[in-house]
Amino acid sequence: MKKLLLILFCFSLINCAKSQNLPRVIILSTGGTIAGEQPNTDQAGYISGKIPIEELLKNIPSITQKTTVQGEQISAIGSNYMTVDIWLKLARRINEIFANNEADGIVITHGTDTQEETAYFLSLTVNSDKPVVLTGSMRPATALSSDGSKNLYDAIVVAIDPNSKEKGIMVSFNEKIYSAKNVVKINTTSTNAFASPNIGPIGEVYDGKVTFNIQSHKRNSDFMPFDISKIDSLPKVEIVYAYADASNIAIDALINANTPGIIIAGTGGGSFSKAILESAQNATKKNIMVVRSSRVVSGKVHSVYIGDFEDAKNGTIASDDLNPQKARILLMLALTITQDKDKIQEMFLTY
Ligand code: ASP
Repeated sequence: MKKLLLILFCFSLINCAKSQNLPRVIILSTGGTIAGEQPNTDQAGYISGKIPIEELLKNIPSITQKTTVQGEQISAIGSNYMTVDIWLKLARRINEIFANNEADGIVITHGTDTQEETAYFLSLTVNSDKPVVLTGSMRPATALSSDGSKNLYDAIVVAIDPNSKEKGIMVSFNEKIYSAKNVVKINTTSTNAFASPNIGPIGEVYDGKVTFNIQSHKRNSDFMPFDISKIDSLPKVEIVYAYADASNIAIDALINANTPGIIIAGTGGGSFSKAILESAQNATKKNIMVVRSSRVVSGKVHSVYIGDFEDAKNGTIASDDLNPQKARILLMLALTITQDKDKIQEMFLTY
């Protein structure tokens, strides 16, 4: 009986003492469908973030043969409710874990809706070359044929792979590995929910083995463009969506509210309607930072775009390969250290 209690204790704490030499992984759980619970298992409806990480780990008991794994609950939300405050909390905890050498790798369980945004935020604020891997699921934990346990298992496998060092922040999903900068959610319901339209996945994980095909955004210990240790909030940056005959109502509201930064989800290579263009020119004259991004899922918005959308003439910035939601994150962080347009443009070309 005593022995049984001891075994149970070991399992729930950090799994087993014999695993001292195994790589250590901390799972930071934020919620999402991977922790979702359905009122009826045969229906699609569910509530995000209901099941604690300790429960999810019980579904992959064999992982303890590869690693000591420990869960921590950061939040329990659907990722549509993700906030800058939670991002800061998450990034700080990751930096603390690595600074104190508490783990060799970190896995973050996260809703898929804003997973690419959190991954990109962390890629700019985490100060370590150790692996950080985000994952989630499209089907709730209680669903028939849920993809959560497999994705969680795979993400842990990626986090402890020796080749995952210096790869930056990654998303592991449906047996593919993506870099934070390039990953995008591409489907509302399918289990094959992510892609990297510009560069493809950087690797794959199958049958407990990890293969990297291409190098992700180069990262080493000196790589941390933004120091969040002294930041409690970020400047407001909002997104304006462009479409045929779009009015200036939304952008003017942001200008009137003195919003420090505006991203335009432009049409094509970062163009927009006459009404938005006129307002964008007004905004830059008031020192509001305006970034041209695109609603198109692949390709870049180049800073050499000529004609009506010449950045030098309008005082705008081109987002390069960042989609509007990631451009927003870079601009929020950039504005914490500079108001210099050229420097910010350089950041868009670099990060
Ligand atoms: N609503 C969910 C979320 O938290 C969707 C998901 O996780 O797949 O983003």
